[in-house]
Formats: sequence, structure tokens, C-alpha cells
Amino acid sequence: MKINTVEDDRVHVLNNNCNVWSVIREIADTGTQEDAFYVCDIGDIVNKHKIWKSAFPRVEPHYAVKCNDSLTVLEVLAALGTGFDCASKAEINKVLDLGVNSNRIIFANPAKPISHIRHAADVGVNTMTFDNEIELHKVKSVFPDAKMVIRIRCDAKVAQCQLGMKFGCDPDNEAPQLLRLAQQLGIDVVGVSFHVGSGCGEPGVFRRAIAQSRKLFDYAATLGYHFNLLDLGGGYPGGQGTSITEIAEIINAALEDYFPDPSVHIIAEPGRFYVASAYTLACNIHSIRGVATKDLVTEAPSTHYMYYINDGVYGSFNCILYDHQQVVGQPLKDYPHSKLHSSSIWGPTCDGLDQVVAETLLPELHVGDWLIFEDMGAYTLPVASPFNGFPIPKVHVVANENVWILLKDILPLTENHFVIGTTAASLAKTMNIDRDAEWILPSLPITISLPICSVGSIMQEHVLDYVDVEPISN
Ligand SMILES: *Cc1c(COP(=O)(O)O)cnc(C)c1O
Repeated sequence: MKINTVEDDRVHVLNNNCNVWSVIREIADTGTQEDAFYVCDIGDIVNKHKIWKSAFPRVEPHYAVKCNDSLTVLEVLAALGTGFDCASKAEINKVLDLGVNSNRIIFANPAKPISHIRHAADVGVNTMTFDNEIELHKVKSVFPDAKMVIRIRCDAKVAQCQLGMKFGCDPDNEAPQLLRLAQQLGIDVVGVSFHVGSGCGEPGVFRRAIAQSRKLFDYAATLGYHFNLLDLGGGYPGGQGTSITEIAEIINAALEDYFPDPSVHIIAEPGRFYVASAYTLACNIHSIRGVATKDLVTEAPSTHYMYYINDGVYGSFNCILYDHQQVVGQPLKDYPHSKLHSSSIWGPTCDGLDQVVAETLLPELHVGDWLIFEDMGAYTLPVASPFNGFPIPKVHVVANENVWILLKDILPLTENHFVIGTTAASLAKTMNIDRDAEWILPSLPITISLPICSVGSIMQEHVLDYVDVEPISN
């Protein structure tokens, strides 16, 4: 099967003894790959789903589409049977286009443009959240049959991204008032939702939030409502080496204590959890500056190395600015026993803000070397821009044979979504650059940049470059 098209976003089935690093290494070793690229392992997403199902037997995940809206991710999750949390008309359409039933979608944006509410009504997405009076009036006017879920505020003391300052009504004062208004307007409210904050660092917050929700279930009953939906929102970690075990223990115990009735439907909206570790980014070092500095301890003169790579904060690493992620760059090549140097990593654009890692220790690297960033699947690609002419990295989606056998016949996935017989090395050609392997420079010694001595000599080179060009035609 022919696979060397630039746009090939099918899943490449690799044999079972490949792993993401070996794939990256093979692609890099072809010498024809220069652009930064991702490898997305859908086996990692399948594995996350298994972890979720065993940690939370009672909690039905509704994947938060904004976290990573790549078609592959959505298709895999649709095949695995998750629901979806959508925040806009376009996200709803994207999920419905996969053939997902509208009842598997929650419209979990408490502040919705009215046309989006109307659209939800048109396509049968009935369940939606709210946290304010105006939203109830809007829903009353364009979608009076909606099933509303009240979003309350309950913030984790520690979180990567707090959400409480923007969404969620006060559960003690505002929520009862909103429920009374909903009752007067004749709007059906069916349950409670919250989001403790993305990248939650305080698992105990879930117990507080579940206890608050219980109070509102009871209050709503006094108004004649019969709530049957509890939505635990997002906040679960998803990077390598993280675990949801502690959060799951706290949530499961709280559910048992406050919501023992199995007829209450429990859902959650994990985003980061499902996708963070599935994506690994490989960036190429294209420039290096050595800067004279002093060793912090010994005060001896030393060199700080500045590595310029071909993806930055305007691309994938926007997650540093918006999602407060801390990323770690690991050299692809082994430099055993080499001395570590004070180093920093910078993106390719001409903006000084475009810094990826401010200070780290790395062996002395060379132009053409690759730096690998793991855990790059959450809140990266959907926000990236090609600012300053640097392209957004392409994604190679891979799976091993076992994952392929598991998924290939589960709609919306089909045999046609997969390509068999690809080797990692041949993936490099799918995003080809117009050079051969010769472009990689021999390891150049880095000299420390000193103040420029004469502008004249630089001018000279430019002039020579200029007169040296080939005539355009003759
Ligand atoms: C962003 C978001 C999520 C996902 O949060 P994670 O921390 O990535 O799990 C879930 N629900 C809502 C309403 C969101 O806005």
C-alpha cells in the first residue's frame, strides 16, 4: 500500500516490539527528517480507557474535546464507547459527524452563545450546564425542553489551571436561588456538575464537591425536582508516571457515602487524562549559541548553551503559556558519560518570549540533534499557530498489532483507518523535506560568542553571498 503522501493521517500499524522512542529514532536516523514531528500512540489512549474503567466502575467518562480535538483521538474514543463534553457548536458537529449519538454528548459550557443553544436543540444534544440566571432565560426562549445541569464552584487548593474564577455558581447562596428561578420558568434541571480545576493537585477536593452536590440534590427535591445526574468534571492527571488511583479512591468512597443510590447516573469530563501521554514530540536543534558564564558554585568560567529548536511557544509549546505546563527535553542520542552543562531551550520565532526551557542540564548537543518531549498530548496542538512561518508539527499516528486487532472493526474505525506494513523509517518520507542526508552537519565545535569585532567583515560576507548567486535565466 502506498503511504508516502504528506497528508497521511491514518494509523500506522507497527509490529509489537516497536515503541515510541524506537519509532522516533528510526525516523530521525533516515536523515531526511528536519521538521519537528509528533508520534501519537493510540495504544496509550486505549490503555488509559482501561485504567479509567477499572478505577471508576461507576463513572462514565465524557471526553473533553477541547483538550485535543484531533479526529484520530475522537474516533478512537468513540470506538471505545466514551461520551463527549463539547463546548461549542463546532465541537458538537465534529463529534456527531463520527456517528456518535447525541445522547452521548453533554454541552458543558455554562455560558453559551444563543445560536449554539439553538443548534444543540436542532441536533438533539439535550443536556447542558448553566451557572447563571441569563442562561436560564436564554434556554427558556430557544430550548425550553433542555435538561439542565447546574455547575457549582468548588476549587482545588492546588491546580495547574484554575477555572473557578470563570465558571461555577456559589453552591450555598447562588445555587438555591438559581434552582428556584428554574422552577418558576418551568425548566427541567436534572443534576449538578463541577470542575475542581485542571491538573488538580488536591484530590480531597472531590469529596467536598460531591458533598456539596448532595446538599443540592436534597434542596432540589424540596422544589419538586428529581435529580439523577452527577457530573464530576475534569481535573485528572494524564502524564507518564501520574496516577488516578488516589483520586479514584476518594471519589469512589464519597460516591458510596453520598450517592449510594445506583439510579443516580455519574459522569465525568476527563480531558488531559486520556491524551497527555499519548503524544511525544520530537524537535530538531537548528542553531546553538554558546554564552560565556560562570559556574554557579566554583565561579570558574564556563559556557551556557542556548539551543534553538523548530517548535516553540507559538506552536506546541503554547501549553507553557496557557496551560502552565513544565516541559522536559531529553536528547534522542545517547551521550554516555558526557559532562552536563547549563543549557536553555528556545523556540524558532523571533520573539524573546519564545522560550521553552529556561534552565536545564544537558550534555553538549549539536546542530541536527533531536530533543524529545513526552506528555505533549493535552492542550498543545489545538492552540498552536504557524506564527513567523514555522509550521505546526505533523502527527504520525501509530499503533501496535494488538491495538489494531482490537479496534479495526469498531465503528467509527474501520480497516481503512489503518495502514499495515509501514516501517518507522518510511514514515519520515510522509513529511519529506527537499534534501538528502548530507544536510546534517558534522559536529561543529561551539565557540563562545564574543562581542562582534567589526561590522565591516560581516557586510563583506553578505556582499559576496549576493554576487555569488546563480543567474535566474540566460
Ligand atoms: C477543560 C474542561 C474539562 C477537561 O479538564 P481536564 O482537566 O483536562 O480533565 C472538563 N470539563 C470542562 C467543562 C472543561 O472546561
